[in-house]
Amino acid sequence: MKLDLSGPVRAALDTALGNARTQESSGNNAEAANAYIKAAGLMENYAAYALTRADQERRREKSIHYLDYARALRNENRRPITSRPMISQPPPRAEVAAPECETSGSLPQEIAALIHRSKITWDQIGGLEPTKREIKFTYGLALAQKPDSIKFAGWKRMLFYGPPGTGKTLLAAATSNGLGATFFNVKVSNLLSKYFGESSKLITALFDAARDEADAGFSVVFIDEIESLVMARGDSSDNGAERKVLSTILSELDGLADKGEDRYVLTIAATNAPWDLDDAVLSRFQKRIYIPLPDAGARRAIAEILLLRTGHQLEYPLEAVVERSQFFSGRDLERLANQAVNIMVEEMNIDIPKLVDRGRDEIQNYRLRTRPLTKRDFDIAFDRIRVDVERYKQLELRYRAFAESN
Ligand code: ADP
Repeated sequence: MKLDLSGPVRAALDTALGNARTQESSGNNAEAANAYIKAAGLMENYAAYALTRADQERRREKSIHYLDYARALRNENRRPITSRPMISQPPPRAEVAAPECETSGSLPQEIAALIHRSKITWDQIGGLEPTKREIKFTYGLALAQKPDSIKFAGWKRMLFYGPPGTGKTLLAAATSNGLGATFFNVKVSNLLSKYFGESSKLITALFDAARDEADAGFSVVFIDEIESLVMARGDSSDNGAERKVLSTILSELDGLADKGEDRYVLTIAATNAPWDLDDAVLSRFQKRIYIPLPDAGARRAIAEILLLRTGHQLEYPLEAVVERSQFFSGRDLERLANQAVNIMVEEMNIDIPKLVDRGRDEIQNYRLRTRPLTKRDFDIAFDRIRVDVERYKQLELRYRAFAESN
């Protein structure tokens, strides 16, 4: 029986590629070329452990690609590449494409629009400490090496549920950034309205790209508003597109699991209405994490991030903002902070329209005047931000009931 050394081979491959990119970014093309040659050998080796022929082929092609790229780095007097090229920035055709940057799908531009290199860090997310810990625990357990003697897979897919605007997208983005992963951010409503007929093809191409990226790193695929695909199944309107997209997502997820690739492609789905999800979806997302409305401590942390870390000063106690914002989501707090700041800035810079009338130079030479935020700024802001407390109370009960029955 062949000993499975795929883990160590992949670790060595990651190191070689990391080294290649570092050298390349520093303009050391010769060293980068050597590292790509090493990576090519390791990728060839890694191909031997692929579970399907298609994956084996893909990895072999990559190996050849690394060699071509190494040759190009050595022979051509090319300009040094300062950062690792992304799928969204394909290099000019005449050049050898930088490794890891081609998509196998036919919709590269659309895929590129869904890719974000997240820069969100955990400390930019206020509160939610137990939730952050649970998320890190979940993917940490899934990604860690397992002793040979035990069978334990862990959860590689997570479902975030909770009221809108509570940080689900932020948490997915921080997960991605924490892993140095490529972040594929799909909002189902956008997908359907923008690429209606093509949505299903786009999903397949997206998972292909996620797999591709994961050959030398990690991918996090975030699917927001997943319930809007399921709800559509129940009604009688023409919802073939939604149905097709959902079944494509589910079969892509199964495909990843069958091939063991979901170890490197983490999928996070998010919903405000988990009770609309049916068994087909729930059974694929067994790790479910509730993202609640922020409690007082979390609201304080979020208000600090939004108001103090952005350099503003307060003449009104932060604690009063925290008390008055019960039942606010993080997004509501963000709107509140923006309102208060806008009120202050507009008041302090009343002549701006006149300056704009005097031309571009005039306005560009003008420096905004500011002052600390006062009770009055917050009074007006609170007046403008209406939160439907009753609705949130009802929702909280439903989330609790969902958590208990699932
Ligand atoms: P969701 O995906 O749950 O609808 P988001 O993650 O998109 O919510 O959050 C919306 C906005 O609200 C964020 O861009 C951020 O400005 C703010 N926000 C929400 N929760 C938090 C939080 N815990 N800490 C900091 N900002 C937050």
